[in-house]
Amino acid sequence: MSVKIAKYSGFCFGVKRAIKISTEAAMKNHEIITLGPVIHNPQMVEKLAQKGIKSISDYSEIKGRPTIIRSHGVEKGIMAKLHRDNIEIINATCPYVSKTQEYALQLSQDGYQVIILGDKTHPEVIALKSYVEGEAIIVAKSSDLPEGKFNKVGIISQTTRRIEDLQGLVKILVPRCEELRVINTICNVTSVRQDSTIKLAKESDLMIVIGGKNSSNTKMLARISENFVKTFHIETASEIDKKWLQHKDKIGITAGASTPDWIIVEVYNKILKCVGNIEKQVSKVEDIPGFKEEKNG
Ligand code: SF4
Repeated sequence: MSVKIAKYSGFCFGVKRAIKISTEAAMKNHEIITLGPVIHNPQMVEKLAQKGIKSISDYSEIKGRPTIIRSHGVEKGIMAKLHRDNIEIINATCPYVSKTQEYALQLSQDGYQVIILGDKTHPEVIALKSYVEGEAIIVAKSSDLPEGKFNKVGIISQTTRRIEDLQGLVKILVPRCEELRVINTICNVTSVRQDSTIKLAKESDLMIVIGGKNSSNTKMLARISENFVKTFHIETASEIDKKWLQHKDKIGITAGASTPDWIIVEVYNKILKCVGNIEKQVSKVEDIPGFKEEKNG
């Protein structure tokens, strides 16, 4: 029996960076705050809480404590309030997200009607919108566009959208505006994880997708994998049922961009243990067959 991991799995560059910045800050401070969880993974959030990183949902709960800005970024107004209140800011915004925010501001200052491709309820998009001077239009898909013609349009995207959706939006807008500026702000992390999951699912008898049940990119990996083979979405190794592995020859595992390495390693080792193959256990994700380390997002 073989157990393989999808080539690109687990933490992306931006999340790794945010965790590093947060844990280093936690070593220097008694207690620090994040507005919302640093990442969408309950086990990692719990681990960070033990290091003194407390997640809150309301600005009023900061009470003067140093505050981490998550990889998704926060609204411009919140940044201004933190400066006004003299709060120490630990900025873990992913540089790709910061760049997108700069584009949002620049396009609107240059007189473009900014259209954001993204999920209007996602924190990254909420923050992005706040950088637009004037009204931004947010669309999850091209059919969400309001009727009518536009003069100057500038398109940016939530970093995790699919390139096909951006292309679809451009195609619809070209005949409907005089000038169209498209800035491709899509980060390839999502697509490379999806593509490598599909590749592995096609050659596996069973797939196990690891990651927070609240992580949208992990849920998407599970949905994609289900199209090819029986798939289970789990958060931790303790959820693995030995029965799933019976009569399976090729087991594939994959993990979302917010799934920590140590959980992936635990899952891999538990699978090996369940099938009575403990000599191949690993201590780091890089040693799992199939894994390829990413240099950046
Ligand atoms: S998915 Fe891309 S943009 Fe988002 S945090 Fe990760 S590296 Fe940054």
